[in-house]
Amino acid sequence: MAKRRIAVIPGDGIGPEITDATLSILEATGFEAEWVFLEAGLGAIEKYGDAMPQQTVDAVREIGVALKGPTTTPSGGGHVSANVRLRKALDLFANVRPAHTLPGIKGPFADKAIDIIIVRENTEDLYAGIEFQPHPDMAQAIKVITRPGSRRLCEYGFDMAKRQGRKRVTAVHKANIMKMTDGMFLEEFYKVAKSYPELQADDIIVDNCCMQLVTRPERFDVLVTENLYGDIVSDLCAGLVGGLGLAPGANIGKDCAVFEAVHGSAPDIAGKGVANPTALLFSALMMLRYLGDNERADRISNSVIRVCGDGKCLTMDLGGKASTDEFKVEVIHQAGAGAGIRVED
Ligand code: ATP
Repeated sequence: MAKRRIAVIPGDGIGPEITDATLSILEATGFEAEWVFLEAGLGAIEKYGDAMPQQTVDAVREIGVALKGPTTTPSGGGHVSANVRLRKALDLFANVRPAHTLPGIKGPFADKAIDIIIVRENTEDLYAGIEFQPHPDMAQAIKVITRPGSRRLCEYGFDMAKRQGRKRVTAVHKANIMKMTDGMFLEEFYKVAKSYPELQADDIIVDNCCMQLVTRPERFDVLVTENLYGDIVSDLCAGLVGGLGLAPGANIGKDCAVFEAVHGSAPDIAGKGVANPTALLFSALMMLRYLGDNERADRISNSVIRVCGDGKCLTMDLGGKASTDEFKVEVIHQAGAGAGIRVED
């Protein structure tokens, strides 16, 4: 039988290092795929003058599933974010970002049982990229929220919550101030909620949400929100459970899905061999579940949990001394030892 084709975009910064570690772990546990390597990010700008070349977008569309490393986005001027381009071009409207407590990870929230999934709208809001400067001393940006865009995101959020046996879905917004845009999002949220009577639906204003995420994070379950709030709140949640090195993500569209870590290209540690590959690895496990390979996803996830719980082979961001490679080898070892599966490295 032909192997399943999966697009791989290593990206730049720490991207190639963590992609390499992630693919090694998947392969060592017997996952078979034809990896189709595609270019994007700084290297693609130098080569094609485009951070997200059209041939990469077309290939991901054709293949349907991609694992993507981070790509650098300069602040202020410079090129449009490769991520934003890809999400828009493929209409990857739902960005799913789970955050849950792992054993052995130290931090002020280590004793809390955090298990939150953020479902962030991925194509609208201030990310629509409509900015202009009518006067040298004034710049404006337009926030775009549409009824169909809000509706399909909320439908995805409730549907996912139901599939995963979740109890509660909370809309995060600022409709007290942005009455039309956030007001429309909230209206659609409660319309969709009516079709899911088994799920508790409520809403919270984004600033209060941030405060409560820090004081009582265990009270939240699934958060459904607009693009910008989702970006900020998901980084906050990543911080609650051990930092960006552990935070995975999935960008889901109707016919296509791209799996990538929440973090950026971390240029400060790129090339040093110390990056934590867990966020990309967990993103790859979301990909395995998307492809229906739940058993392998559970095995690898349990292996990471054992490595973290053991605490002897943690990367620098988690207070350890292990290199990316050492962590990778330990995850493979634990997966093999604990689950009796094939290990080749
Ligand atoms: P972007 O704007 O693309 O999100 P950024 O520079 O704001 O990029 P990151 O690249 O995510 O943010 O990096 C933020 C901090 O987190 C940096 O200090 C970086 O070294 C650290 N970091 C990010 N990802 C990892 C990782 N996988 N392992 C270890 N440290 C990481």
